[in-house]
Amino acid sequence: MSNTCHAKNCSTVVLPRFLMCSRHWAMVPPLIQARVYKHYRPGQERDKNPSTAYLAAAREAIDAVARKEGLLPPMERLSETLTGPRDLYHCQSCSTTEDLSRWQEHDEFDKPEAVCVVLCKGCDEKLIEKHPRLYRRLALNEPAPGAMAICADCRHRDGNRCCNPGLRGLIKVNNL
Ligand SMILES: [Zn+2]
Ligand SMILES: [Zn+2]
Repeated sequence: MSNTCHAKNCSTVVLPRFLMCSRHWAMVPPLIQARVYKHYRPGQERDKNPSTAYLAAAREAIDAVARKEGLLPPMERLSETLTGPRDLYHCQSCSTTEDLSRWQEHDEFDKPEAVCVVLCKGCDEKLIEKHPRLYRRLALNEPAPGAMAICADCRHRDGNRCCNPGLRGLIKVNNL
């Protein structure tokens, strides 16, 4: 039986040990590619017994490509779906002022964005790990456009999102 690329609507024939054709594989974000490699076990394509972790990573890869091709709706954003206060001093989920940390939001392709979500310890444990979108905890004093005390009165701030059009270069520098 021939094995085809697992990306949605793709019928390119690939070797059974490959999840996708090279064109689609190149569209998978590097972090997800790394998870697929990590959980791949040589021979799993013959005994048809891949691990649950591999299947989960493969699912992520397939969904990431489908989002990129517009075949799936984009992932939700905690910065938009959480209804609590959008400032640096409250958890955006439960509004508490205790034990807060800032989480930088990433785009569909795991690229950091100028958006932060402030969450308390209890809420981050509940929300971040299982969320399909990538979030990264910012260190205590790490600069983050839109989510620093200095940004509070800035005209470019919208919630904890920095909308300064000159920002792109800055984000790159912060994530070197
Ligand atoms: Zn393909
Ligand atoms: Zn909370």
